[in-house]
Amino acid sequence: MPLGEILISQKEIGRRTKMLANEIRKHYQGSPVVFLGLLNGGLFFLADLLRNIPDPVEVECWRLKSYLGETVHSSGKVNGFEHASGHFKGNHVVVVDDILDSGLTLSEVRAHLLNIGAQSVKTCVLLDKKRASSQPVKADWVGFEIANQFVVGYGMDYNGYHRNLPDIHLFVPETAKTEHKF
Ligand code: 5GP
Ligand code: MG
Repeated sequence: MPLGEILISQKEIGRRTKMLANEIRKHYQGSPVVFLGLLNGGLFFLADLLRNIPDPVEVECWRLKSYLGETVHSSGKVNGFEHASGHFKGNHVVVVDDILDSGLTLSEVRAHLLNIGAQSVKTCVLLDKKRASSQPVKADWVGFEIANQFVVGYGMDYNGYHRNLPDIHLFVPETAKTEHKF
């Protein structure tokens, strides 16, 4: 059974999400903000974070992919910008994603937003994966720092499955035993 133990429970996620929402509210003090959720992984976190932000904010979502198919390794490329649209010019934007791994996704999204005229871009991730190699971006708000392990649940998938789990689990695919990275 590749689905491993619970790393972060639903309850811990809920508590931390409330704290992050309060920090973000304090930062913007009611100024207009556009929240940009990155799908599919950031879907659950975005929804729970925003339910703790009662201010009048705008919400947009982009669907980007860096992991393709049955793999626990990034493709090294972010796909999907051709469908990215929304009301960002002149606005403060908070990008919300599930996990900061190589940092490629957030750095490309950030550059794209600044390029189309966003006034400022900040980032909020539920998880920050500690890796040996340095990341090109730091997230402004981080829920939890985790070790360099593959996780699923609470929006995060393996080949499309397990997003619906309420807790975050460790995940070791059967094939990973033969892959040198594990
Ligand atoms: P990055 O571009 O920072 O390498 O990767 C960001 C995206 O890769 C995340 O938003 C997430 O969708 C996916 N990702 C990175 N690490 C994991 C992981 O441990 N589990 C899952 N399910 N997705 C991950
Ligand atoms: Mg993602």
